[in-house]
Amino acid sequence: MHKKSSLSRRHFIGLVPAAAVALNACNTDAAENQIPSPDYSIPESGFHGREENKRDWRGDNRSGRVVFLSHCILNQNARIVHEGDFPAMMEPLIEYLKEKQVGLIQMPCIELYVLGLGRFDVRPGMESPAGMKRLNRLIDDQIFTMREYLFQGFEIVGILGKQGSPSCGVTRTWLDDIQQDGQGVWIRELKKRLEAEKLDIPVHGVADFKQDETIKWLEERLKEPYDKSSFSASM
Ligand code: SF4
Repeated sequence: MHKKSSLSRRHFIGLVPAAAVALNACNTDAAENQIPSPDYSIPESGFHGREENKRDWRGDNRSGRVVFLSHCILNQNARIVHEGDFPAMMEPLIEYLKEKQVGLIQMPCIELYVLGLGRFDVRPGMESPAGMKRLNRLIDDQIFTMREYLFQGFEIVGILGKQGSPSCGVTRTWLDDIQQDGQGVWIRELKKRLEAEKLDIPVHGVADFKQDETIKWLEERLKEPYDKSSFSASM
């Protein structure tokens, strides 16, 4: 998101501390920001990790493969002002995934969720206690979903972030008013959780105008057809 926004960012930079203070003021109590481990148990309704809830998925046409995507790969309308590079989505990449029959799981746009559509500079808000609290809540949801797909025998092809973003950048991010090497806040925290949960899911950054590089990366991962035997409840 971030190559064109230096002017707009600089224009608004003076407002950033006030925004961060306002966000923090909602949550001054540090204890309140501690997030307990989520308990997803819903008695009698199903929960991942229970053998009795494991199903045999081979009886229909589903492909067994999914990919997790940064939200704006599918919806450019979520981007910060002046950074929508395409009318709606990254079409070459999405077309490729459609052709390969990989299910698309659109992660939430964390900047929109924490700071709104009219955000102007994201790091101070995202890194604030209130921002991190919201971010961790959404990471819980994504981790739950990933664990459930894996438990049921599906393949998660990868997690696709968005290069250059202060939130979703994987190896390139926006920091100190320039694009540079590094991770965005969402990807950094998500990767910490993946590691803590011992989930070995590759994370790759998509560059707006180099989608072919991501397609090549995916080609490697999709070389072999998915082995549906792991789809069986008896595994
Ligand atoms: S936060 Fe992530 S999903 Fe949202 S606009 Fe930025 S790069 Fe896209």
